[in-house]
Parts: sequence; C-alpha cells; structure tokens
Amino acid sequence: MQNWYQLFPKNTGLSLYAWIIFCVLPFYFIFRTAQWVEISIGLLMVGIFFTTYRLAFIKKGWTVYVSVGIQMAISIGMTLYFGYAYFSLFLAFFIGNIQHRAGFITLYIVHLVTTLAAVIIGFALQTSTLLTQLPFIIVSIIGVILLPFNMYNRNKQEMLENKLQDANERISELLVAEERQRIARDLHDTLGQKLSLIGLKSDLAGKLIDHDLDNAKREITDIHHTARTALKEVREIVSTMKNNKLEDELVHIQQVLRAAQIDDSISGSPHLSDTPLLVENVLSMCLKEAVTNVVKHSEATVCKISIIQSQSEITITVWDNGIGMKRHENSIGNGLRGMRERLEFVNGNLEVEALEGTVVTIQVPKIIGQTKQEEVL
Ligand code: ATP
Ligand code: MG
Repeated sequence: MQNWYQLFPKNTGLSLYAWIIFCVLPFYFIFRTAQWVEISIGLLMVGIFFTTYRLAFIKKGWTVYVSVGIQMAISIGMTLYFGYAYFSLFLAFFIGNIQHRAGFITLYIVHLVTTLAAVIIGFALQTSTLLTQLPFIIVSIIGVILLPFNMYNRNKQEMLENKLQDANERISELLVAEERQRIARDLHDTLGQKLSLIGLKSDLAGKLIDHDLDNAKREITDIHHTARTALKEVREIVSTMKNNKLEDELVHIQQVLRAAQIDDSISGSPHLSDTPLLVENVLSMCLKEAVTNVVKHSEATVCKISIIQSQSEITITVWDNGIGMKRHENSIGNGLRGMRERLEFVNGNLEVEALEGTVVTIQVPKIIGQTKQEEVL
C-alpha cells in the first residue's frame, strides 16, 4: 500500500521521472491557452483529478468508483479541450491495482472505450494539437491497453508469493510445535517413570530407616542412582532423539517393578528382528509407560510381560492382577494418549482391557517396519 504523500505510482515499469513529466505536462497544455477562464477551469480539473486519484487509493467502496468516474470525465475533458490525453495512463495504473476480477475487467473496458472515443473525438476538435503528439498518444494508448494487465498480474504474483511465504512460516511453526510435543512426550515417559521410582524408593527408605538402617541406606543410594540416570536421560532427550533399545528398557522395568514389590515375569526375546530403530523406540516408550501405570495405578502384586514376534507383527502384552482399569479412565491422561499417538505413527495399535486386572496389548505390524526400512535404504 502506498503512503498518503506518494502521488506517483510505484512499480509500474515506467520510471519515476516519466510520472513527474506526466504530472507537470498538463500545466503546460493549460497555460498554452490565453483565456483566463479556460486556464482556471483547467487548473481546477487538474486539482480535482489528483485529489480524487489519491482518494481512490486511500478509500474503499463507493468512494473509489465515484473517484474513478470523476477522473475518467476529467481525462476526457482534458483530451477534448486541451489536447492532453495522458491522464489515461494514471487511470490505467489505478485499474491495474484493483484485485476484484469483475471490477477490474469492467473498469478496464470502460476506460479503454472512453479513452479511444476521447482520442478520436479529440482528433476532430483539436486536430493540430493531437497530430503533433501522435507518437506519444499511440504509446499512451498502448499503455492503456497493457499497463492494467501488467499491474494486475504483478499484484496477483506478489499475493501468491506472500501466501507461499505465510504457508512456509506456518509449516516451520508446526514443525517446532511437533518437536516440542515430542520432547514433552519423551520427558513425560522418561521422567514420569524415574520420578515414580524415586517416590516409591523414598517411601520404602522412610519405612526402613527406624528398624533396618542398612537397607534404608541402600534404597537412598538407589534413589541417588535413579536421579542421576533421569538427569542423563533428560540430557539425551534434549540433545537428540533417544535410541531406546527394548532390551535396556526391560532391565529398567524389572528394577521399577521390584522396587514396587510387584512380582515380574518376562517371556519372549527382546531382540527384535527386522525392526527399524524407530519402531523399537516406540515399543520401548510404550512398554515403559504401561509398566509405570501398573506401578502407579494398579495396586497389583504380579505383572507379566510377554513379547511375541510373528512373521507379520510384534505383540507386547503387559498384564497385571490389580484393581483393573475402569472404562471411563481409558482416555484420561497423557500416558495412554502419547502411546496411541506414537503407535499410530508406525501403524501400530493399542488395546487396554480389564481382565482380572488390566491387560495392555501393544501391536506393531512388521510389514510397515520393512517398508520403512526400504524407504531408508
Ligand atoms: P500420566 O501418564 O500423564 O502421568 P496417568 O498415568 O494418570 O497420567 P494414563 O497413563 O493415560 O494417565 O492413564 C489413564 C488412567 O488409566 C490412569 O489415571 C488410571 O486411572 C488408569 N490406568 C492406567 N493403567 C492402569 C492399570 N494398569 N491399572 C489400573 N488403572 C490404570
Ligand atoms: Mg500414565
């Protein structure tokens, strides 16, 4: 958008000096006439033209159309009475700036017809004046034909470029948001488990401190160790995507279950064949959250984990003999939601059932793993 003090159009393809000449030139045509009345009328017309021209840029709605109408009338008047046909170029520039397609086409046609009519009649009335400037008049008629389209297309292109820039900015914002979400999820999964463990162990140490000082000391050493591990994991999450092996995860899980005095039994091999790292990461995080939930919510005494690998899929089941999950609780909390989101990403599936306790089944198709691997290769 132009500022109020900018009378000369920008980016028209014509230099600023050409526009200055077109602004000064009407005065030359007016002052050529000896009659004071005609000079006054001419000056008034030029004044009104430039005022309405600025108004058309600043205002919106009907004022624009009235201003353009007045300018067209003045342009015709100047051509017929003073032989000055170049106001039509200012109008051509303004029409090129109209974004509304129907408005643009209508004003373009009206302007072209009135300019041609004014020039033809002008030749009849001011034959000698217009004949001397015939080459310039031809150039300005070409300008009236081409300038609006040139401006219209340039504005459209600018608009598309701006939209593209906006879209790119939006994409990078979304990428940042997605990355934040991922880090938040990782922090929740990692820190959640470690803090639960610290809570359990400090409870235990509190109970032991009066009658079994040695064991209490061991628990406090464990707490210290867990806090250090948590700190290390947080650093890893922040620096890079953590490489979580299922095998390592099972060791942590056993530690947690033992600290919570829940009997654990693990069946199946944690060595996954033909499974991309990403899928193993997701499985590890989901397993960790499922076991953390067992410790936090189930009040169970036994937790069984089984890892089954078939040709087509990997299934991990976490069963506990606790209080069972109530139906309405299925969708509450970040933990289960995070698991679902992660599994969806690798085309996996999560099922939570209340069967003499809770059964959490995590399933990932192997075929997706293979396809992803092929993509990486
Ligand atoms: P967060 O994981 O964000 O710290 P959360 O553990 O409460 O919070 P979810 O992991 O989504 O959230 O679990 C949702 C709810 O399901 C829990 O609040 C709990 O009531 C119930 N729940 C989950 N797992 C079990 C389980 N093994 N036994 C009993 N209830 C469970
Ligand atoms: Mg949870």
